[in-house]
Amino acid sequence: MFPSVSELQSLLAEPKQIFITTHHKPDADALGSSLAWATYLKKKGHSVTVVTPSDYPAFLNWMAGNDEVVVYEPRHNDRQVRDLVHRADLLFCLDFNCLGRINELGEYVRTAPGYKVLIDHHQRPEHFADLAYSDVQAAATAELIFEIIRALGDQDLIDRGMGEALYAGIMTDTGSFRHPSTSRNVHLIIAELLNVGIDLAAVHRRIYDSHSEIRLRFLGYILKDKLVVRREFNTAYIAVTQQELRDYESKTGDTEGLVNYALSIEGIVLAAVFIDRGSAVKISFRSVGDFSVADFSRAHFDGGGHHNASGGVSYQPLDATVERFVGLLPQYQAQLVSTPVPEPVP
Ligand code: 5GP
Ligand code: MN
Repeated sequence: MFPSVSELQSLLAEPKQIFITTHHKPDADALGSSLAWATYLKKKGHSVTVVTPSDYPAFLNWMAGNDEVVVYEPRHNDRQVRDLVHRADLLFCLDFNCLGRINELGEYVRTAPGYKVLIDHHQRPEHFADLAYSDVQAAATAELIFEIIRALGDQDLIDRGMGEALYAGIMTDTGSFRHPSTSRNVHLIIAELLNVGIDLAAVHRRIYDSHSEIRLRFLGYILKDKLVVRREFNTAYIAVTQQELRDYESKTGDTEGLVNYALSIEGIVLAAVFIDRGSAVKISFRSVGDFSVADFSRAHFDGGGHHNASGGVSYQPLDATVERFVGLLPQYQAQLVSTPVPEPVP
């Protein structure tokens, strides 16, 4: 599955200064795997700091260790973060596959003198790390963190706080245990986490049922007025303007999951959400079956990710970006129309 942990074991044999980072706008897997790994390393006597390249949704701030996360803000703590990166003996890069995914931090990490370890499950990892635990079969980076701690012989150090952070990562990256990545191993790991007393209902509630009223009204508006369905391409998409984000007081994380509504329509094979963030249009792609949105976003939107879930970016205006996307569909029509969609259960 991944290289043996013996190299990691010797790297961790003496107390080290450790820096952990994860991708831009961390999701539950990015943050959960980083915080669980940080807690583990602290228990082993290391000095650890988790730095995120941007802020993250408030519905993730319950995780154990959240209060000690350093959110990188170039205008405010650039020197502090640069020092942390450059003083680290060991740098762990979790849940991302290329340094472009950590914004300005990417250059600091690239030039850092410390030893770099990648732990990730995205396709096509860039070769910037000295040691890589990269497994595209893994459902989540949190699954890899669990496996690595177990392989290091320390499963008994996994406590409830770590367990809930890992559970959150696996739960969200598997779409609540519905994506094909939800292997037998995933369920066995969850069984182990239940053994340390994780409150799985509470994790679901904190992540999925803790939205503001206005966020739900935003969702209602989007689904009623902004969802576009192109049956001839089995495609559905949504484009959100900056004004709409302002009107609905959108906060980090409020647009997460929109793309799944587009994909939930019967027969839809490709779903996309375009969000105008001002400096760029951020795009999320999802698919069912054989159609690879990782290939699609890599080819056209400077992105990547997983076979059925990927993201990308466009520096054209929102309208032009959507127009370009729609213009690409005819060349994929045969694939989109022939992709077998799992039959709904009658
Ligand atoms: P999301 O749509 O949830 O933001 O991202 C879906 C998947 O695609 C995630 O695994 C994420 O890490 C990856 N992803 C999102 N945006 C980008 C991007 O701009 N570049 C690359 N390489 N991957 C992305
Ligand atoms: Mn992940």
